[in-house]
Amino acid sequence: MVPIASSDAYLPEERAARICSLTTSLPFSHLCFPDTVLGGADIGRRVAVSLGQRPCTGVWKLENHQLICRGAAGKTDITRPLSQVIIALEQCADQIDESRHECKRLQAEVTTSVATRIEDLGKAKVDPNDIDLTEANFILSGGNGIADWAHFHDAARLLGATEGASRVAVDDGFMPRERQVGATGKWVTARVYIAVGISGAIQHMQGIGQCQKVIAINTDDSCNMVKRADLSVIADSDEVLTALIAALNTDTSDSAATSDVSDALL
Ligand SMILES: Cc1cc2nc3c(=O)[nH]c(=O)nc-3n(C[C@H](O)[C@H](O)[C@H](O)COP(=O)(O)OP(=O)(O)OC[C@H]3O[C@@H](n4cnc5c(N)ncnc54)[C@H](O)[C@@H]3O)c2cc1C
Repeated sequence: MVPIASSDAYLPEERAARICSLTTSLPFSHLCFPDTVLGGADIGRRVAVSLGQRPCTGVWKLENHQLICRGAAGKTDITRPLSQVIIALEQCADQIDESRHECKRLQAEVTTSVATRIEDLGKAKVDPNDIDLTEANFILSGGNGIADWAHFHDAARLLGATEGASRVAVDDGFMPRERQVGATGKWVTARVYIAVGISGAIQHMQGIGQCQKVIAINTDDSCNMVKRADLSVIADSDEVLTALIAALNTDTSDSAATSDVSDALL
């Protein structure tokens, strides 16, 4: 797999040029990139163009010296001849087994000047609630088990989380309709979904099926949300939110605390 990260800056042209310069000094049979937005999909395509190669993208399987790629927005498989530049999906990764692999750090100099048309202006501060729920990575969602909604909003702000809600919370007027998660609301794909005072009705669970990690805060240790959760806190929602706010407030700077917490959770 091609090493990509050396700095946080977004410099796809320079990174692609570095990889291309390595290919002139190191013989290689295949260059593999992860097919993720920031992980290598873009750089892999740039490298392929520079090398005059047609890349195989959305690869999920190698079979009989052919690559099986996802096509038509994942609805169909396309079989392609083995290419030198492979941009692979996560499913392509080997199961953990006994085989040993080596990972080497390589230094690459860019000898020719790189025409950069992209300027990285750094990360922009975004209000988590401006992110559409369906795209949010980190969601704090509230349900009927919340008594103090002001606390809920404070906790979401300090955590840097996007707010979600159960239908009951929406129907009762505590949250706007566009915040509803579930079968008749939004289907979310967060990496971390914290459900506060949400029982886990089937219609709600349908909306969080694609979430990676679920944390439940609930007084009922037998509710469906606790059964589904990777981590549960069996306690009163207001007590937990109050403790969370106090812990986050001990940091003098909101933004520092916010990024620390969301980075740690994600
Ligand atoms: C056709 C249809 C479509 C639906 N679509 C959706 C949908 O899209 N999304 C959706 O969410 N629902 C949907 N529903 C509603 C769904 O069936 C549930 O009624 C709803 O999800 C329940 O919301 P809740 O978990 O917030 O409330 P409740 O079921 O009342 O659960 C409240 C939870 O809070 C806990 N609790 C209570 N007090 C505390 C406390 N002090 N501290 C901590 N925890 C506490 C309780 O133990 C309980 O688990 C739909 C229903 C129908 C019929």
